[in-house]
Order: sequence, then C-alpha cells, then structure tokens
Amino acid sequence: MSVQNNWFLRKLYNTSPPQLQSLAVSVLGLKIRRTRYDNRFQTCSRAYRRHQWKSATDWQQDQLHKLQDIAAHAKQTTKHYSDIDLESVRSATTPREALKHLPFLESETLRQEPEALISSEVDTDDCIALSTSGTTGTPKTTYHDVPSHIKYWAVMNRFWGWGGCRYGDRRVSFTGNKIVPADQSGGPYGRYDRANNRLLLSSYHLGEETVDAYLDEIEEFEPDFIDGYPSSIRYCAQRAIETDRDVEISACFPTAEMLREDDRSIIEDGLSTKVYNQYGSTESAAIVTECSSGHMHVNPEIGIIEVLDEDGNTVSEGEVGEIVLTALNNRAMPLIRYRIGDMARGPPKYEECDCGREMPIIDEIIGRQDEVVVTEDGRRVPMLSYNVFKYTENISESRIVQESVDEFVLQIVPDDGYTDEQAEIAIKKLKDRVGEDIQVEVETLESIPRTDAGKFRAVISNVSAQMNHK
Ligand SMILES: [Zn+2]
Repeated sequence: MSVQNNWFLRKLYNTSPPQLQSLAVSVLGLKIRRTRYDNRFQTCSRAYRRHQWKSATDWQQDQLHKLQDIAAHAKQTTKHYSDIDLESVRSATTPREALKHLPFLESETLRQEPEALISSEVDTDDCIALSTSGTTGTPKTTYHDVPSHIKYWAVMNRFWGWGGCRYGDRRVSFTGNKIVPADQSGGPYGRYDRANNRLLLSSYHLGEETVDAYLDEIEEFEPDFIDGYPSSIRYCAQRAIETDRDVEISACFPTAEMLREDDRSIIEDGLSTKVYNQYGSTESAAIVTECSSGHMHVNPEIGIIEVLDEDGNTVSEGEVGEIVLTALNNRAMPLIRYRIGDMARGPPKYEECDCGREMPIIDEIIGRQDEVVVTEDGRRVPMLSYNVFKYTENISESRIVQESVDEFVLQIVPDDGYTDEQAEIAIKKLKDRVGEDIQVEVETLESIPRTDAGKFRAVISNVSAQMNHK
C-alpha cells in the first residue's frame, strides 16, 4: 500500500507539516532501500563496475547466452511464448541471429493480455509492479522479480559513476510524486528522504513565483548530483543564469522526458554541471546511457536493443527506425522483442569509444515527445498523461489537449465496459495536478489522430510554446 494510492494516507500526509512529510518520505525511502539497494545491490554494483571494460566479442557472447536462457524460460513458463522455435534460437551464433527466430511483442498485447506474459513460476505478490503510460497514453503494468530490479539499479549506479557519483551521495530529484500538497502556496518545495540521502522536489509547484525558493533549497542541500525531469531542471538552470546565481552540481542525469536540443547547454551553464543523458523505459527492458565522451551506450547486461526498418531488418547507418527491446534478466515477465514505440537513428554498433568501453553505441535516440503543460500561474506540469490515466480502466487510447491555460480536452477511445465514471476519475486527476478552476471537456473518439510524422503524442499543449521563454 503506498501513500499515492491510499486516500486516507494521502489526506493524512497532505495535512501534516513538512517535517512530518519528510519523515513519511523517509519511511517509504527505507522500503525502497531494502528492495533496491540491499547487499545484493552492493555486490552487483562492484561486479558491474569491473565488467564494464569487456570486449565487444565477450559482450555478444554474454548476450547470446542470456537470450537463449530467457527464451527457454519464457517458452516453458508463459502462454505467450509457448510456441517459439527454441531449437533455432539455441543453434544461433549471434544475438541478432537468435532474435530473428523470435516473434515481436506488441505493446497492445502487453496491455490487453499481461497474464499471458507472466511466468507460471512466480507469484506477482512477490514482484515489483511498475506502471507506465507507454506511447498510447494508456497505462500498462509490468512485473519484475527482485534480482532483475536490483541489477537494473546496479547499472544505474554504475552510470552515476560515469559522472563521478554513486548511490548514497547527496542527490536532488525532480519526480512525478506528489510530495507537496497541490494547494500549498509557500515553500518548502522539497522533502528529504533520509534513507536514500535524497531531496525530492515537487515538479508541480515550479513556476515564476517559486523558482527562486527552489534554487534556495537546492543550494542549501549542496547536492552532488541532480536527476529527474529535464524540463524542471532546465527551468531552474535558466533562472540561475538570469539571476547570476552561483549554483554548482557535479553531474546531472535527466530522466523520464527526452532532453531537448538546447536543454543541455542551459542546464550545464546554469548549474555549472555536466549532463549525462539516458534512455530507458519503465519496463526496465533496456538502459542506454551517455559516457563522458558523449556517446550513448547500450548497457548489455540489461537488454538488447534493435533498431529496425518497416520490414524488420536492422536499419542502415543514418537511417531512422523503430526501437525493439529485449529484457535479459526479468524472469517474472519476460519481454522479448518488445515494440515500445520509440524511434532511434542508426543501428547499435560495437565499436571502441574514447571512454574505453566497447558497449554498443547508438547514434541518436529520437524517443517520444515531451509531455509538459504550462498552467495559468506559470507552473510547468510534466508527465501528465501517465498521472491522469494511471487509475482509469477500459480506455484503449487517450490524449490530453491543452487549448488555453485553463481549458483542456480529454480525448478518449473507449474499450468495452467503458463508463463515464472513468472520465470523471481522469478529470479529477487532471484537476489535482493542474488546478481546480480549469475547464475540462471530454471527447470520445474512434481513434486518436497521429502527427504528420505518424507519431502519437499523449499530450498536446497549444500554450506551452509561447510561454517557453519563461
Ligand atoms: Zn563511451
């Protein structure tokens, strides 16, 4: 049971003073520390740090063996993969050759028939459940066994190491958690998670009126690194530049949103930091991380990334294709050749990088669109689609359109069993995050129109562009 989901705990939390809220955040943080950063994490982190210098040949051999293993496990213990041609996978000599014998997994299948993907060997109560909005704006839940979850965070810890930091260092994060009540008008805007030495900052209160207080709190905390939504970090950095503030943070690891073109220079300039970009997914099927030489490396222990053209062939150099992910560790819910809906330029290449690592390099992750709307009082609200449709059911696709600062349209493609009650839940969640006074219209559609480039956008804001200068 989490504070996020429980009405009573949420109300209790919201009416408590900030110090008590920090205590509650620390208690939850302790739970995270126990499931994510235990002794196994420390052992795995040390091993991963040593292994990062492996040769390209060794990486490919490792990946082939892990792929053969997870494919056999998937065939034996899941309904979805029961028909796969395991003999061909076993006789393959490269990961690419083995993958060709495995079917694609559509994100729609993951949403509609998750039980067909869950291994009969696990009890989901013992797993970590993670939700994601995906690219269709509809939530999906994936289940992760604890060892795979720990491996994921050990790779993240190694990545922080590329920027000279590690788990336990002083960390500031902009997340989607509602750690500060929506109707709180003054600061503080951060809550300290003592268990993980992490100051969590609210992404929902950041605006022209509050940004200086945010910078005060960041400076006072003296963080070693900052992570979370780049739109929020950039906003603070921009203000630091405008007001000539001397903020210094060793490293910045943006997460969850795509880093836009000019984000990097503004963040690096404003916070005297170095940005290390990353691409991952809530499904934890792969992590791509930027090294100090500026290349995006696939972390081979976690997953395999393919970049494919319309015919399912690896794209040529410079060509844009679809990202297809295969998770190598999660035995609770194997995801093989998962079509996540993001795009990348060029095939992953094994070539030596100036950093000395031979992990595969991807030229450019194109990814999904930003999901930021700007409110009447100038706050920037990220990750809206995910947070608004997280608790609804029987909706196959959805989109949030912001017509003006206080007018929103929720576009919904209903599934069988859909009732107006679902729209009411979404409206309430939207008002929780943007403000009670907004007008919300619900539009039910047969499908959500795509952009000219065929891309789905879960949030469209017609006002953010003109307010971006703030
Ligand atoms: Zn490198």
